[in-house]
Amino acid sequence: MQITRVGIGYDIHRLVSGKLLFLGGVSIDFQKGLEGHSDADVLIHAICDAILGAIGEEDLGSFFPDTDLNNKNRPSCEFLSSVMNIARKKGYSIVNLDCVVIAEEPKIKSHKKEIIKSLADIMGIGIDKINVKGKTKEKLGEVGAGDAIETYVVAMVSAMQ
Ligand SMILES: [Zn+2]
Repeated sequence: MQITRVGIGYDIHRLVSGKLLFLGGVSIDFQKGLEGHSDADVLIHAICDAILGAIGEEDLGSFFPDTDLNNKNRPSCEFLSSVMNIARKKGYSIVNLDCVVIAEEPKIKSHKKEIIKSLADIMGIGIDKINVKGKTKEKLGEVGAGDAIETYVVAMVSAMQ
């Protein structure tokens, strides 16, 4: 019997000067970058948590703690490859991902295709399984002031059981 399961992921990172901006494994030309222990790829982190949630595992932080020096400045695409390996080992494949990136700037729309292609390559799945939507926060709060980027991701997985 085929079963499907769903998981949700959320993340937020502060935007600061002097850091590179990575979204979905893509280096984006912008005057600020995200602050965090790894490369702070706020989209990949939420995707990892959504998949881990869907397959009934602990969150990303428990697999790759920020107290571990090995994870310092580590590219988040490595986390996502590992999460995909965990999912595949348990017999799961990705049905689809729906992602929301909330940022006042940069505009996600112009980077969307590149981000989807990058995620599909890292995850080894088709681009038709990934959807990325860019939203602003209508100038409200920290995200609206351009001080942070926030992400929400829903992942659906399936397995034969
Ligand atoms: Zn994060």
